[in-house]
Amino acid sequence: KNLKKYFPVKGGVLNRKMADVKAVDDISFSINEGETLSIVGESGCGKSTTGRAILRLEEPTDGEIYFEGEDFRNLSKADLRKKRKDMQIIFQDPFASLNPRQKVKQILDEAMAIQGVVPKNDRPKRIRELMDVVGLRPQQAERYPHEFSGGQRQRIGIARALSVDPKLIVCDEAVSALDVSTQAQVLNLLRDLQKKYGLTYLFISHDLGVVRHISDRVVVMYLGKIVEIGDKKALFDEPRHPYTRALLSAIPVPDPERKSERIVLEGDVPSPLDPPSGCRFHTRCPFATDICKQEDPDLRETDDANGDHRAACHHMEEIVAQYGTSQKKTA
Ligand code: SF4
Ligand code: MG
Repeated sequence: KNLKKYFPVKGGVLNRKMADVKAVDDISFSINEGETLSIVGESGCGKSTTGRAILRLEEPTDGEIYFEGEDFRNLSKADLRKKRKDMQIIFQDPFASLNPRQKVKQILDEAMAIQGVVPKNDRPKRIRELMDVVGLRPQQAERYPHEFSGGQRQRIGIARALSVDPKLIVCDEAVSALDVSTQAQVLNLLRDLQKKYGLTYLFISHDLGVVRHISDRVVVMYLGKIVEIGDKKALFDEPRHPYTRALLSAIPVPDPERKSERIVLEGDVPSPLDPPSGCRFHTRCPFATDICKQEDPDLRETDDANGDHRAACHHMEEIVAQYGTSQKKTA
């Protein structure tokens, strides 16, 4: 709730604090138990920082974080450590996050030892189970990370996350480094595990194809802000924010009926050190007007009746009136 994460940047002759990089700038959303909520956006939009702040791997600058109704800020260090086991993270590069000098069984054993979840004597059995659950052979636990392929290493990362029996897993670009067919296998595994263990995922990705495959709901971020949030279907079929439309028009659409003209985004993403005034997207938005430069639009209900679907754009109704609701008609 109202989450902010600013990174102070120093500079100048005296190396004084110069400014803040507003990586995450006042965002609010919730994740329902058992669902997959994705955060999508270009690099630097604040999606990873959001995931890390939720896990308190980064201390938020401001805002509230609730887990199962409990405000994280009120937890003691010891309680926070206990809660941490309920929340795990899987990274983009499994190789970088696995200790190359440890056998897989040591990696998994260590994760369980740190959280004190499984008694030492039971861990070898649990390690064999975990290997099986992620689709690896139990004997492979005797090997080192470099002896595995990228997809297998990601399975080890998943096994490590699962070893402490978490409730929420943050998947930060978890399949981005993998080739397409391996991606699909790992995504299917994540899905199966979700069903089996009632897991909740916060899925962070720049890849809309992947997001479309895995999500229940989607958050679109741009320069530290949420610009649109809604059910997957609402977001993909009835996007309301020009940025979402632009992102969607950049992915291939398999249905030829819905072939859309591409909205090509002008210019680069501006620096979060000095984000544009008003609507942060105005420097790249083909629909921008004066009010867009002056006033930061609130995230508000769209006309789309499909459940909770909000977007932050001054002109979304006019854009819908002019170009229709689906990508097909989007200019
Ligand atoms: Fe574009 Fe203005 Fe809407 Fe921002 S508020 S997305 S600049 S039309
Ligand atoms: Mg990232």
